[in-house]
Amino acid sequence: MTDTYADERPAASTDFDAIVVGAGFAGLYALHKLRDQMGLRVRVFEAGDGIGGTWYWNRYPGARCDIESLHYSYSYSFSPELQQDWEWSEKYASQPEILAYLSHVADRFHLREDIAFGTRVTSAVWDEEHAHWQVGTQHGASVTARYLISAAGNLSVPKTPEFDGIDSFAGEVYLTGTWPHEGVDFTGKKVAIIGTGSSGVQAITEIAKHASHLTVFQRTPNYATPLQNEPSDPNRVAAIKANYPSVREASRNTRVGIPYDKVLPSALAVTPEERRRVFDECWDEGGFRFFLGSFEDILVDKAANDTIAEYVRERIRQRVSDPAIAEKLTPTDYPYGTKRPPYETNYYETFNCNNVTLVDVSGAPITTITETGVRTTDAEYDDVDVVVLATGFDAMTGPLLEMGIVGRGGRTLADKWADGPHTFLGLSVHGFPNLFLVTGPQSPSVLYNMPLAIEDHVDFLSDAIEHLQRNGLDTIEPTSQAENGWVAQTNEIAQHTLLPETDSWWMGANIPGKPRVCMVYLGGAAVYRGICADVVANNYEGFTLAAEGSAARERASAHIS
Ligand code: FAD
Ligand code: NAP
Repeated sequence: MTDTYADERPAASTDFDAIVVGAGFAGLYALHKLRDQMGLRVRVFEAGDGIGGTWYWNRYPGARCDIESLHYSYSYSFSPELQQDWEWSEKYASQPEILAYLSHVADRFHLREDIAFGTRVTSAVWDEEHAHWQVGTQHGASVTARYLISAAGNLSVPKTPEFDGIDSFAGEVYLTGTWPHEGVDFTGKKVAIIGTGSSGVQAITEIAKHASHLTVFQRTPNYATPLQNEPSDPNRVAAIKANYPSVREASRNTRVGIPYDKVLPSALAVTPEERRRVFDECWDEGGFRFFLGSFEDILVDKAANDTIAEYVRERIRQRVSDPAIAEKLTPTDYPYGTKRPPYETNYYETFNCNNVTLVDVSGAPITTITETGVRTTDAEYDDVDVVVLATGFDAMTGPLLEMGIVGRGGRTLADKWADGPHTFLGLSVHGFPNLFLVTGPQSPSVLYNMPLAIEDHVDFLSDAIEHLQRNGLDTIEPTSQAENGWVAQTNEIAQHTLLPETDSWWMGANIPGKPRVCMVYLGGAAVYRGICADVVANNYEGFTLAAEGSAARERASAHIS
């Protein structure tokens, strides 16, 4: 551990220099960077009993990443040695393998010793007198720190079940987002699963292999396309490892952190034959290549979108034997890619199995989980042993609003964000000094290969802290003007896409009553990184950097005397 700033720092006036909330990809890297590279005193609070975040909580059968583990690198890039040492066994790693990777990272960099597990942060109040954060936990502890870093994730608060009667259900109920560590044995059981997003699609395919019967409750059919997972190819591994820096550089300089070099400008500018050839190629390659690797205008031009949407519909119809079931599984009333597309392995074929039933609840919503099953407005589905809720998350803002954050003048973040998030760059908030949001709302976040998005933000915030310290300053806070400009820019970019048309968690539309705004900066990672670099180069343009609080006053009076 190096202590670069020890000589420059005043005697400690806070319990810690930085408090980090969360120990997933973001929290682990933030701890390593701030503690080991900058010599700060850091405490991490993690609600779970172990490291891993998403990969600690989401242990449902079939859980795996859908950004390639190796080539496009769903992994850290900060340590060349780590990058060379770690071996991924599959193109898309499974949840246990990603958790093992993060566990290796935690051990390799001795991170666990500074993490308080099983400790949820329940309040974080800015103390103007001392210019520091007062952070409270579920266990009643209260500690102070100059900087508060939310590494609390975008998809870490499962949506509260909307159905009456869950407590009366006689069998077992599981949420994909808080899956039991010991696993669930579905053998011979009658299972009901609600939700057909990415989690549901993965879980359905696996649970159907073991359950005696699986009933799938679908409200909106999805455009799920093949993952095309396979074991890692040693030749490809060797080629990537020989060129990792350039692979990472290429990834960072694209829209979503995945370097597709064959994207054509418009689906409408080519012949139908050429279009089909491109879609076939992307389909065969699988994963995000199909979503974002064909034509540039898929998410902005409805006519271009129609071509890919129709292609997927055709594929679904080919794969499902019963035309009536195929029709139910085929999305028709929203554009492709305006809900986050799931990636699958034999998902549609699962509905050809005798032990799987599809129930379309789009016209007859689920109202109640009864003692024995699921009730919709027009039917009862009884004799269920296990209910699985794959109903998603209070995404992006949920984890931040649950943390009890209070800024200048006693204003809560919940009050400030009553009509949706207001941030500068998706990583800072006016009125909330020294608060950093790693992959916060209005940053590229969930539409940027997330380990890279996380590293970019942690690097930005640690550079900002270093800048403050070098210049004898205490606080960094965006101006309201910069923040308003960013919010307007984020919304304006979204309006140029097809995303606002559809009810999705990207739009906050999956939670009843949640403000409907685009939660993601859609200008792309490369553009966003350029904007952040300019902010830094222009002496943190858009931020106010100040000496304030009792430490500043002490420094000033020591200087005068
Ligand atoms: P998280 O991993 O969510 O960690 C946040 C941690 O903060 C959690 O452990 C939580 O317990 C803790 N926390 C939250 N609030 C508090 C509090 N108040 N007090 C204390 N602790 C708190 N992204 C991709 O780029 N590619 C993928 O293939 C991909 N697959 C995914 C699959 C699933 C099933 C899910 C749910 C998400 C997936 N994501 C994927 C997104 C994924 O969340 C990110 O890739 C990444 O893991 C986020 O890391 P994080 O550290 O920012 O947040
Ligand atoms: P999700 O995409 O929000 O899907 C939730 C599902 O539950 C939807 O089908 C939704 O239907 C349904 N649902 C919610 N409330 C319902 C209700 N009251 N009645 C009936 N159905 C209801 O959530 P998720 O599947 O957990 O995925 C969230 C995100 O996590 C993904 O988009 C992705 O970013 C990430 N993820 C990634 C992977 C991966 O492969 N790497 C895997 C899992 C998750 P409606 O569409 O009608 O709302």
